Amino acid sequence: MMQIKCLLLSGIRAPFDAPEGEIIKIAKAKMKRACLSVTGLHFRLYKKSFDARRKNAILQVCSVLAEYDQPIAVSEAALQKAEARPFAEELPVVTQGTQPLVARPLVVGMGPAGLFAALMLAEQGYRPILIDRGDSIEARAAATERFRTEGVLDTESNIQFGAGGAGTFSDGKLVTRVNDPLCNYVLRRLCEFGAPEEVLIKAKPHVGTDILRRVVDGMLNRIAELGGSVQYRTCLWIMLLKTVLYARKQTWARSRRVCWCLPSGIAQGIPLRC
Ligand SMILES: Cc1cc2nc3c(=O)[nH]c(=O)nc-3n(C[C@H](O)[C@H](O)[C@H](O)COP(=O)(O)OP(=O)(O)OC[C@H]3O[C@@H](n4cnc5c(N)ncnc54)[C@H](O)[C@@H]3O)c2cc1C
Repeated sequence: MMQIKCLLLSGIRAPFDAPEGEIIKIAKAKMKRACLSVTGLHFRLYKKSFDARRKNAILQVCSVLAEYDQPIAVSEAALQKAEARPFAEELPVVTQGTQPLVARPLVVGMGPAGLFAALMLAEQGYRPILIDRGDSIEARAAATERFRTEGVLDTESNIQFGAGGAGTFSDGKLVTRVNDPLCNYVLRRLCEFGAPEEVLIKAKPHVGTDILRRVVDGMLNRIAELGGSVQYRTCLWIMLLKTVLYARKQTWARSRRVCWCLPSGIAQGIPLRC
């Protein structure tokens, strides 16, 4: 027997148009059949995908979270019978340093990697300096439109470079082959900044280009509110990177801005070019 507070029930199949309530009913019945207690339980739809292999019988395939008010003892056999497993929401583990930093941390690149790194540093009170070689979303959208209509390429701010990173002008699918529990944390944070709640549940979530831009602006504003700095048109000069990493001295940006900082995250993405 083991003590469990929260269970994830998977493999729940229902007609493709079944509402959430019906899916939860199926989950409850499954638990009862496996002799798992259903008192003091709160259910929540966790993930949903579709099985369309049989065109005349399209199904939803769902998983449901079941959380008890108090931990209860359950057997391994009961869990197997209910196709359930213990579940705990994962949060990133942040270990605080013990010494004050000699300078502010620097994060290079405002794609998803850089945004999340800077947000986390800002929330821990480190006041990061976040730079990108490209422009803000608005200015970048204008540069991209100029390229589309007039064929004029801005080599620093374009469909690949600038706030939001390389996928900002895509259709906003949130696709990853990484099966990491922290993916949910990322989705929850995107919702906090305006992504629709359904991205938390859908197996192939999609945020949409317009919303994605607002989400990026929201994250950048939060970083600034927490004391971070957001600098556009500021390119890390890779020639000095080694000096920066080893000597921890100063970062020279091609825009001729010089700032005292600690290089903490290089999130330049795939189109790395200096
Ligand atoms: C056209 C396109 C469409 C895509 N569509 C999707 C999609 O629909 N769904 C999906 O999940 N993924 C999509 N992707 C993939 C997704 O964009 C990437 O996986 C993601 O952007 C990687 O994030 P990142 O933060 O690592 O890097 P990037 O997003 O590439 O961010 C890197 C940032 O660093 C900046 N930078 C680079 N060099 C320097 C420097 N020297 N100094 C300062 N700043 C610098 C760049 O300007 C850029 O903003 C798409 C990619 C492309 C190119």
